[in-house]
This record gives sequence, C-alpha cells and structure tokens, in this order.
Amino acid sequence: MNPITKVIRTRAAQTNEMEHSSPMFLTSSFCYNDAETMRAAFADEIDVNIYSRFSNPTVDEFVQRMCALEGAEDGYATASGMAAVFASFMALMKQGDHLLSCNAIFGSTHTVVSKFLPKYGIESTYISAAATEEAWRAAIKPNTKMIYLETPTNPGLDVLDIAMISKIAKEKNIILNVDNCFATPIAQQPIALGADLVIHSATKWLDGQGRVLGGVVVGKEKLIHDIYLFCRSSGPALSPFNAWVLSRSLETLEVRMERHASNALYLAEQLQHHEKISWLKYPFLPSHPQYAIAKAQMSSGGGIVCFELKGGSEAGKKFLNHLQMLSLTANLGDTRTIASHPASTTHAKLSEAERLEVNITPGLIRISVGLEHREDILADIIQALAYC
Ligand SMILES: *Cc1c(COP(=O)(O)O)cnc(C)c1O
Repeated sequence: MNPITKVIRTRAAQTNEMEHSSPMFLTSSFCYNDAETMRAAFADEIDVNIYSRFSNPTVDEFVQRMCALEGAEDGYATASGMAAVFASFMALMKQGDHLLSCNAIFGSTHTVVSKFLPKYGIESTYISAAATEEAWRAAIKPNTKMIYLETPTNPGLDVLDIAMISKIAKEKNIILNVDNCFATPIAQQPIALGADLVIHSATKWLDGQGRVLGGVVVGKEKLIHDIYLFCRSSGPALSPFNAWVLSRSLETLEVRMERHASNALYLAEQLQHHEKISWLKYPFLPSHPQYAIAKAQMSSGGGIVCFELKGGSEAGKKFLNHLQMLSLTANLGDTRTIASHPASTTHAKLSEAERLEVNITPGLIRISVGLEHREDILADIIQALAYC
C-alpha cells in the first residue's frame, strides 16, 4: 500500500458500534476481567493497554499513522514537540556523552542543549548548517553519541545533506536524530536517507490548523523502546483528545502540503526580484544556495519562504504593522498565512552576532504560507512592502 493510503486506512480497532470514523478513547486507564489478566498486563506478558501515560488506542492510531508516513518501525507521541526532543536526548544519552548539533535549531531546542544538558553532564558542540563533509567528520569526538539537525532550518531555510551526514553517523555508530518539522514527511523522509530517529512538532503542519500542541518521535524500534521507557515513567504523554485531532489532520496532510508548497513557490517566484527585498530564500528556487541538495532529498520546497528587507530591522517592524490580512503570531504551519520578524521577536534574546551566526539578519521576514488564494496572500505582502 502507498503510505498515503495506509495513513488514511490505519485506525484504532472498530468497536461493536461499527463506527466509520475512529472514536476518541478519552480514558485514563483500562479494565481487566480478572486478577490473572491484570497481573499478566503489569508483568508485560501480554500486550494490552494499562494506563494512558503508557499507551492509549487514539494516541497509538496517531503514532501508527506517523510511522506509515515516515517509514518508521515504531514511535511514541508526546504533549509537544519539545517533549519529544527532550525525551530523545534524556533517554538515549548519559553523563559523559557528547551531542553534535547543527547551530541553526529551534529556539527552545537551543535552550535545552546549551542550558539543561550540561546539568546532566552531557556535553555538546555546534556545527554550521553550511559545514562540509570534512568539517562534519572533524567535529565528531570519541564520545559523540548523537547528531542532531533540522532541515530546512528555522528560520534561515538552510538545507543540510541528510544522506551525507547519515553516512558519517553510521560509520561511527552515532545516532542520527532529525527534526523533520519544516519539511513534513510529505516533502522529506529522513529515515529513507539514513536517519535513526525523526522528530516532529505536530503543533505545526501536522495539525495544520493551529489548534493543538503535540509531538512525536519515530524511528528504530530499539531506540523508541528506550524513549518509551523514559516517557512512561517521566510523563510527557500526548492527550488522547489532541491525538484524535492530529490523527484526523494526517488524512489531509498530503493535499494540504501540496497547496502550501505550490502557494509558497508562487510567492517566492513573484517576490524574489522585488525592489524592497535584498534576497529571498526558498529551497526549490534555483537561487537557493543548497538548491541541488534540496532537489535531491525533498519532493517539494515546503510551506515557508523567507526574505531580507533592504531597510533592515526598522523595515521589518513597518512590514508587520502594515499587513492587513496576514496574521502576526508565533506559530507556523497553519491554513492562515503568518508573517514574523525573528530579530525583534523569537530571536530577540540573542545578540546580533549570535543571530548572524545562524543567518537571522536584521530585516529577515519569515512567511508561513497558508491555504488562502495565492493572489490574496501576494497582494497583502506587496502592499505592506510599499511602506518599508
Ligand atoms: C515548534 C517547533 C518545535 C517545538 O515544538 P512545540 O510543539 O512547540 O513544543 C521544535 N522544532 C521545530 C523546528 C519547531 O518549529
């Protein structure tokens, strides 16, 4: 079966009511007919649900659908994307281990890596998104346990070569952990390119309508089992309600992502030579610095476009102030188009030098392209640019 068919047809077992759409199993715990079955359940001798912090049919349906999309053996769903990131670090690394991470990573992930991992004796170093194969090899240490990256990166949209990095990871027996939030499994499947684990903030494109928080990690069975054991005791489980919402969303993910990406490519083409813009980045524009890698490992350029305003930071604020339709909000991956100015908002706590290191220039605008008609999105951006 094609993975898209599998996603739509995978469902929690039908109940005696013979319902067509999967019901939501809003239950904290599960019952047993007798003491012996209950004993066997707790002894892990039979594979049944016990308590929704461990497993729940609605949550399992979401996880199985994500495994189908990513080509993964198994997975575990969490209350947010950050819980999935944190669990993958805490379950698989210990004191004395080293994490090699790309420097262009989500803000809260950066906080976990730089502020919290050191408390547990886990060291880390950052490597540039533009690093060559030699630079990646040179950055590996004898105690490197995990490589962590996002591609395309947020918000700079740099593209990293997953196959090249996974080859190095395999040679050195290092876990390759990829945050696939920006591309979604519709545009990119890191496991097929050699990744061991794939993480998602389901809050973004997977929900796609800005309603619920959620996260998931999928990948090699053995690694997922360790993550499951950590989560089952530490408690970041995804709520069955959120899982039900997310699971319905996955049925339309492919058609939504096709439109997000075609709208984004159209905007990128129309805006790239605009007089108020010094450069515009989109993975599937030939002018993108890693266009060849993007074309090789992605089937579309995704739904994010970013550009630099010639007028810098002041122009960035003017641009946001003059938008009439686009939303000013912290989220991304919504049916509604969202504009953000990272230098004055999400990345304001970094110094200018730190921002430049990860390609966050003063006039950088990030557009999460929605599903409105492409001419309406373009018209709002063009009228706002006139003020910059
Ligand atoms: C939003 C995001 C996260 C964190 O996910 P939450 O669901 O907000 O916890 C992680 N990685 C990337 C790339 C993100 O955009």
